[in-house]
Amino acid sequence: MKVSSPGHSERQQRQLNRRKFLSLSAGAASGACMTGCEALSESTAAQPIIDIHQHVGYNGRPNDVLVDHQRAMGVRRTILLPAGRSVTTTSTHGSVSNGLQAKCLGNQACYELAKKHPHKFPFGANEVPDIEGAAAEIEKYLKLGAVVIGEQKFGVECDSPEMQRLYELAAEYRVPILMHWQYKMYNYGFERFHKMLEKYPRTIFVGHAQTWWANIDKNHENQAVLYPKGKVTPGGITDRYLSDYPNMYGDLSAGSGLNAFTRDEDHARGFFQRHQDKLIYGSDCNDLVGSGAACQGSQTIAVVRRLAPNKAIERKLLYENAQRVFSI
Ligand SMILES: [Zn+2]
Ligand SMILES: [Zn+2]
Repeated sequence: MKVSSPGHSERQQRQLNRRKFLSLSAGAASGACMTGCEALSESTAAQPIIDIHQHVGYNGRPNDVLVDHQRAMGVRRTILLPAGRSVTTTSTHGSVSNGLQAKCLGNQACYELAKKHPHKFPFGANEVPDIEGAAAEIEKYLKLGAVVIGEQKFGVECDSPEMQRLYELAAEYRVPILMHWQYKMYNYGFERFHKMLEKYPRTIFVGHAQTWWANIDKNHENQAVLYPKGKVTPGGITDRYLSDYPNMYGDLSAGSGLNAFTRDEDHARGFFQRHQDKLIYGSDCNDLVGSGAACQGSQTIAVVRRLAPNKAIERKLLYENAQRVFSI
């Protein structure tokens, strides 16, 4: 029986060519390095990492420091997620949420850094969803090659007409939409989001942040607790969304992701096992170093390496799922 259509194999060929090109450019780059970074280049070439969650201008971090931070973490490719424009609306909590509440820069800044390093930095397209022209602004950057819509981090109902317009746009351009879930702050109505997952089966949703990760636990009752500790009982809302909906994925980034895995390591091993095709590494850290205690992104990489049940699953979480889901 023939299992892959001609379209499928063409895409595989394109990906192979692209991979070949990227490994050649990685080799060329390491040639330019002095002794100190050769070892790192070799190890990252052998075990590349994709980071799907970083920001330009994050709390004022300069671009060269961001580039070095990603290199220090051993990341080969990094998706730059823009903020929306700065406006004073209810959805930005009167401007509190401008710059993704962390001074992050918008579409143009991400696009420009991406253009300088086209293979290192794929970029996203974003806008405050409920302002005039939001979809058009996002579409402009999708046409320029954005690989994701987001980070959507605004005070709106998850099933509002504005958000549904973005879900449609994501499906139309075949890019995922990445959402920051935070109780009473960003993307309201997590418990009824399954209706959107059902209504937009062609849209790929990527969940991120406190409310997303707190709800791996079936016993998570007080939604005001954003970083719950202790043992996890499987079957929380997040666990079910990942199991029940083929279009729902999880972004491992931020302190909320790290907390979700370290609070109960036995649970994390099983969670990585059962959602091995759905979980995607991201860092979302704003430190200047890219290693050690200050860098939560590199700690998350270490936790994935330690708790992934086997090497194949580790590679999926740190690289292969991102490559497939974001077509990069
Ligand atoms: Zn972020
Ligand atoms: Zn870091």
